Amino acid sequence: MSYSSYSSRNTRNRRPSYGSRRKQYIHPGKFIKAAKQVQAEAYEPTHNFDDFDIHPLLKENIKAKGYIAPSPIQDQTIPHALAGKDVIGIANTGTGKTAAFAIPILQRLIVDQNSRAIIIAPTRELAQQIEDECISFARRSGLGGVVLIGGSPMGKQLRGLRERPNVVIGTPGRIKDHLQRGSLDLSRFNIVVLDEVDRMVDMGFIGDIRSILGQVSPNRQSLFFSATIDAKINALIQTFMNSPVTVSVKQGDTSDFVEQNIVQYNSSNEKIGKLHDLLIDENVKKALVFDDTQRSVERLSKELASRGFKSGAIHGGKTQGSRQRALNHFRENNITVLVATDVAARGIDVTDITHVINYSTPASYDDYIHRIGRAGRAGKAGNALTFVEKTNY
Ligand code: AMP
Repeated sequence: MSYSSYSSRNTRNRRPSYGSRRKQYIHPGKFIKAAKQVQAEAYEPTHNFDDFDIHPLLKENIKAKGYIAPSPIQDQTIPHALAGKDVIGIANTGTGKTAAFAIPILQRLIVDQNSRAIIIAPTRELAQQIEDECISFARRSGLGGVVLIGGSPMGKQLRGLRERPNVVIGTPGRIKDHLQRGSLDLSRFNIVVLDEVDRMVDMGFIGDIRSILGQVSPNRQSLFFSATIDAKINALIQTFMNSPVTVSVKQGDTSDFVEQNIVQYNSSNEKIGKLHDLLIDENVKKALVFDDTQRSVERLSKELASRGFKSGAIHGGKTQGSRQRALNHFRENNITVLVATDVAARGIDVTDITHVINYSTPASYDDYIHRIGRAGRAGKAGNALTFVEKTNY
């Protein structure tokens, strides 16, 4: 299944209202929860980046990025991955897992020009972020990569593939498209990374992943990263990994560190006013606002802009370029309110979102957890506010 078909199927619904048949009923009490205290970072890494047996160029590029000490997942994963072992990394998003796989992979690619790596991620945005990290770590190494994602021009991807890139990064749907049309041959790829496996499984990509993994060289190193491991993921591990080492740095779910509360409203007129009042609060520095459909997201973003807020919108109906631009503006604080649909927001890695606001209630509790996980990342406390109509409480 391609990402775009997933996206359109899930955003085609016409503005379901709270409690409509399309949405699961979630008792508003489930949207209220005090945040666990974020512990002062007491982690003592057992390695420095200098201790790792990696090329001086990589060490230089790591320093240039301003990384001083390895994060826990990097500290515990990199030595095993450098030793050529298969690794399962259990870590939340925002814990530094990109570097945990990028550094050992790039090391292997630098010393062995015949090695090839494929990195599979759930969303276009995440694939692009992984590419950006790889570019900065691989500076002046001569290694090349290509990003295979939906919504971006095929021609560029085909040209990139013809240059025999050392690293291929992509979403499952588009990678499978390339395999089917014969523009990608994975038989010589000997390193495979699955990032955010749980999210890929959630998004219905398990079949695509199985078929992609089935085409990668059997003599390969596999690195899988996931915040949770369930039966489906376990089956994937059993089938495709070879005596993996498991590293877990999870201290709790990201959502545990989010202060959760509801905002009650009587009518839709009052609702937008309440959102306005919320957004002018000085504590709301960067807000991700969820609404149901492409149309409602667009409308809400325009309404907020007309009220003077620096707002933008992302949803599956926008081109990859315009989604990427909106995300960059959000990351760089050119906009401070981003209105999004669930699917478009998955994989957003903006580490300083202070508030997730559910302007419309999520379709399921799982969606709720995904949404609020966008706040409170990388050890920072976040807030989640869910709009609930008074009559429903
Ligand atoms: P990731 O989980 O890989 O998306 O990383 C989350 C954020 O932490 C990104 O902005 C990284 O650039 C940053 N980061 C990752 N590792 C380190 C490190 N060792 N030191 C400082 N920042 C880091």
